[in-house]
Amino acid sequence: GLDLAAKVARRLGAPVREEVVHAVDGVDLSIAKGEVVGLVGESGCGKSTLGRMVAGILPPSDGAILWRGRDLRSLNGTDAREAKLRTQMIFQDPMSSLNPRLKVADIIGEAPAFHGIASRRDLDAYVDEQMRRAGLDPAFRRRYPHQFSGGQRQRIGIARALAVRPDFLVCDEAVAALDVSIQAQILNLFMKLRRELDLTYLFISHDLGVVEHLSDRVVIMYLGRVVEAAPAEEVFRRANHPYTQALLSEVPRIETRKRAFAGVKGEIPSPLNPPPGCHFHPRCPHAFDRCRVERPALKPVAPGHTSACHLNDRA
Ligand code: SF4
Ligand code: MG
Repeated sequence: GLDLAAKVARRLGAPVREEVVHAVDGVDLSIAKGEVVGLVGESGCGKSTLGRMVAGILPPSDGAILWRGRDLRSLNGTDAREAKLRTQMIFQDPMSSLNPRLKVADIIGEAPAFHGIASRRDLDAYVDEQMRRAGLDPAFRRRYPHQFSGGQRQRIGIARALAVRPDFLVCDEAVAALDVSIQAQILNLFMKLRRELDLTYLFISHDLGVVEHLSDRVVIMYLGRVVEAAPAEEVFRRANHPYTQALLSEVPRIETRKRAFAGVKGEIPSPLNPPPGCHFHPRCPHAFDRCRVERPALKPVAPGHTSACHLNDRA
């Protein structure tokens, strides 16, 4: 089966856009076929960088991305092409990735035509099928991206991704720009597609509330490191790491409709010059001497549940 793993050893520097450098440091992430993994952290924590590495867009400077057990860089020819097509990324702002001069049908049909996934003769029907699948009316196939709403544009981006028959979607803040009611519709679409197409997801968000209902497993990142990873229900019922606990206190609980605690205090430090020891220590209410000098390792705290906090050694 599909076994995707980002084994990113040591410190990784990767240029993102022009000047920003995110560090992803010693992250080991495996995603099983059919699994939905939520990757959560504040902006600048390296989650987008990790997502691009996992998607094969950004090569790690050290370590490897394994796809079906093989290093992405060792693949060539048809295997490399398949790995590339099978993994698709969905971004926050579909407008910036949709060619404004192309009609929707051409945006969606371009890659399947180029790669011979659909024949010229069947292309119209194939595009209509992708539109319907993404919740778009094929009657609008000759319209341009600017003639659609934000939510519909995200559906166009999803239809375009589906058109190359991926089995793995990396969604980076895919609903962050949308109104809450539209967010729910797009999240429901992702879940419908998961059932229909047996998709695997890496779902990246700064918002724990967004990943809560769709993730099987949640991975929390802070300044380039994974600090906690657990089955989703464990994270929401028994968060171990003080950073996760602080993030959770920011999620408005539907049951109570109020925010419980104060959330994460203080500014996120620069990922270029992270604090020594536990990166979270300047903001952690439980920090003690050891936290300022020694990096906590990710250790099991329950079955399938790991956390990187020195407090776990004190029990
Ligand atoms: Fe807080 Fe120390 Fe645990 Fe880091 S290792 S989260 S500073 S208690
Ligand atoms: Mg980002």
